[in-house]
Amino acid sequence: MNDHYPFVNPPLPYAYDALEPYLDTKTLQLHHDRHLQTYVDNLNKALKDYPELQSRSLEQLIYNADSLPAAIRQSVINNGGGVYNHIFYFNGMSDLKTRSQAGMLYKAIVRDFGSVENFCEAFKKQALSVFGSGYAWLVADQQGRLKIVTSANQDTPLAQNLCPLAVIDVWEHAYYLKHYNQRAAYIDNWFNIANWERAGELYKDFTV
Ligand code: MN
Repeated sequence: MNDHYPFVNPPLPYAYDALEPYLDTKTLQLHHDRHLQTYVDNLNKALKDYPELQSRSLEQLIYNADSLPAAIRQSVINNGGGVYNHIFYFNGMSDLKTRSQAGMLYKAIVRDFGSVENFCEAFKKQALSVFGSGYAWLVADQQGRLKIVTSANQDTPLAQNLCPLAVIDVWEHAYYLKHYNQRAAYIDNWFNIANWERAGELYKDFTV
C-alpha cells in the first residue's frame, strides 16, 4: 500500500478461499476487488487536482478532514474512510485460530468486559445495532480502556481519537451473497476468522 497518493489496493494477506466456510470466496472477491477498488479509485480521483494534498497519508487525510477544501471534503471522508476501513477489516481476518495468541488483549477484555463471552455478546449486539451501513469496532481509548463503538457509512474511529483494534464490516455487501439478510449468522462466523493476534499486537503497540 502506498503511504500517499496515488493509493493502491493492496492484495489480501490470504487466498480468496482461505476463510471458507465462514466467509465465502465470491463475497471476498467482490468485496476486495470491486468495492475496495472503487474506494481507492474515487479517493485518487478526489485528490487528482490537489497536489498539495498528495503527500498526505491516509490517516492524515482522515484526521484533518476539517482542513480539506470543501469541494472534496466529503468525498475524502467517504472514500478515504472506505479505503482505511476495508484494509483494516481484511487485514483483521485470518485462517488461523489466533485467540490463544492474544494474551495481553485477552486480559484487557476480561478486565473491561468481565469475560470473553460477555465481550462477544456485547460486540455482536453492537454489530447488530448498526442501522443501515456501517461497522462495529473494538477500540482502545486514550487511557487504554477497551470499548465497542459503531460507525456509520465510512466514518472511522480515528476521527474520535480512538485506536482501532478489530472491526467487522456490516454493510450488506459484506455478507449478502452467503447469508442473505442474516447479519447475525455472518457475525457468528466472523468470530471464527477474526485475527485476534493482530488485534493484540495493535493493542500492545498502543499501550507501550
Ligand atoms: Mn465493505
